[in-house]
Amino acid sequence: MKHVIIGNGPTGLVAAETLRRLQPEAEIALIGDEKEPPYSRMAIPYFLHGNIAEVGTHLRKAHDHYAKHGIHLIEGRVTRVDPQARQIEFASGDRLPYDRLLIATGSRPILPPVPGIDLPNVHTCWTLEDARAIAAKAKPGSRVLQLGAGFIGCIIMEALAARGVTLTVVEMGDRMVPRMMTPTAGAMIKTWVEGKGVAVHCNTGVTAVAQKDGALAVTLSTGGELTADLVICAAGVRPNIEFLAGSGISMERGIRVDNAMRTSIADIYAAGDVTEAPGFHTGQPELNAIQPNAVDQARVAAHNMAGGASSSGGSLAINVLDTLGLISTSFGQWQGVPAAAGGSGVERVDPARNGYLSLQFKDDVLIGATSIGWTDHVGALRGLVQTQAPLGQWKARLLADPTQFMAAYLATAQKAA
Ligand SMILES: Cc1cc2nc3c(=O)[nH]c(=O)nc-3n(C[C@H](O)[C@H](O)[C@H](O)COP(=O)(O)OP(=O)(O)OC[C@H]3O[C@@H](n4cnc5c(N)ncnc54)[C@H](O)[C@@H]3O)c2cc1C
Repeated sequence: MKHVIIGNGPTGLVAAETLRRLQPEAEIALIGDEKEPPYSRMAIPYFLHGNIAEVGTHLRKAHDHYAKHGIHLIEGRVTRVDPQARQIEFASGDRLPYDRLLIATGSRPILPPVPGIDLPNVHTCWTLEDARAIAAKAKPGSRVLQLGAGFIGCIIMEALAARGVTLTVVEMGDRMVPRMMTPTAGAMIKTWVEGKGVAVHCNTGVTAVAQKDGALAVTLSTGGELTADLVICAAGVRPNIEFLAGSGISMERGIRVDNAMRTSIADIYAAGDVTEAPGFHTGQPELNAIQPNAVDQARVAAHNMAGGASSSGGSLAINVLDTLGLISTSFGQWQGVPAAAGGSGVERVDPARNGYLSLQFKDDVLIGATSIGWTDHVGALRGLVQTQAPLGQWKARLLADPTQFMAAYLATAQKAA
C-alpha cells in the first residue's frame, strides 16, 4: 500500500504517524512545499514572543524521526492530481503514484486587493519565513499597523505587544474577533486592549498603503492616514485548493468531505484547514480552520486510508484566545439559533472582574457559549456543547444564573458519561 500525503503541517504529519502505527509495512510519502521541516504555525507567536527558538516550532525535534518511522519526506510543490492515472504531479513535472491520497494542504492568508499590499514592509504572519521577517523588523518602538482583528490577528497581537512595538489595529467589523465573539464580548476585548495601549479602529478598512518619507502611509476607509514602519496583514484565510482544478474532486470554498474524510473521488481523502467538512450541529459543509479539528480529521482520514471505518463527529468551533492577558473562549453555535428553531439564550456581564458569559440553547441543549475572564472549568462549557446532554431542569437554572455551568455539567453530561 502506497500512501501519499500532500501537505506536511500538523494534519499531514499526524495522518502519516497514524498510518505508520496502523500499517507498519506501508509506504508513506509526506510532501511539503516550504523549505522547513514540518512545523506548527500555532507556535509562531511563541517564537515572535521570544519564548522559544525556531527549532521549538518544529513538530518533531529528533533529526531522524521521519527516517526512523519510515516516513519519506519530500520537498516539492504539487501542481496536479490525476485520479485516472492515480498519480500526483510536481511543479518539476515529476510524477508520483499513489494507492491512497490525503490532501492536507491547509490554508493561506487572504491579501485584500489594496494598492501597496505587496510593498516590502507589508507582511502576512503565516509561515516561519514570515515570522523571521517580522522578528527582524518589529523592534521596540517600531510603529506596527495590523490589518484585521480576527482570531489569528489577536494571537499575533499578543506576540507583537510583547516585542514592545507601538501597535495599531484596523478591523473592518464592528468589534474585535467578530466571527468568534458576540458584540458585547468583542467590545469588551477592544476596551481591554485599548487599556493596554493598543489603538483599535473598528468599522474601518485599509484602502491603500504607500511608501512615504521612509515609512508606510496607510490610508483608512474613514478618511484618515496612519504612519507605520511595518504592516501586518491578518485578514482571514482561504484553503489551498487551486491546484486541484480539473481533478474532478468536489470543492466549493474548500474540499468537500464526508464524516469519514472521503472526497468525492475514491481513494482520495482530505483533512485539516483545506476541508469543508460537515458541521457538528448542522451537518452542512463548514470551513473551520483551527488545529484541534485539523488533527481530529487527520486521525479519522488515516484510519480509513488504512482500511478502517472511522467517522468524525463533525466540525466544531472551539476557540480559546489570550488577548494581552484577557482569556476568552467561544464554542459551537455561539451566535445561537432563532427562537422559531427552539433557540434561547442568556448573557451576563460582570464588570468588576471583566467577566462575561453567553449561553445559547436549542430546546434544552447547550449549543454554543462565549466567555471572557473564565479560566476555571471552562472546559465544562465545551463538554456541554460537545456531549449535547439534555439539561432538563438545569436549563431554567442556567438561564437564571449562567455561572452555574460547571454544576450543570456535572449533573448532566458528566453523570450520563
Ligand atoms: C500565527 C498563527 C497562530 C495560530 N494559532 C492557533 C491556535 O492558537 N489555535 C488553533 O486552533 N489554530 C491556530 N492556528 C491555525 C493552525 O495553525 C491551523 O489550523 C493548522 O496549521 C492547520 O493545519 P494543516 O496541517 O491543515 O495546514 P497547514 O499547517 O497550513 O499545513 C499545510 C502544509 O501544506 C503545504 N502545501 C500547501 N499546498 C501545497 C502544495 N500544492 N504542494 C505541497 N505542499 C503544499 C503548506 O505549505 C503547508 O506546509 C494558528 C495559525 C497561525 C498562522
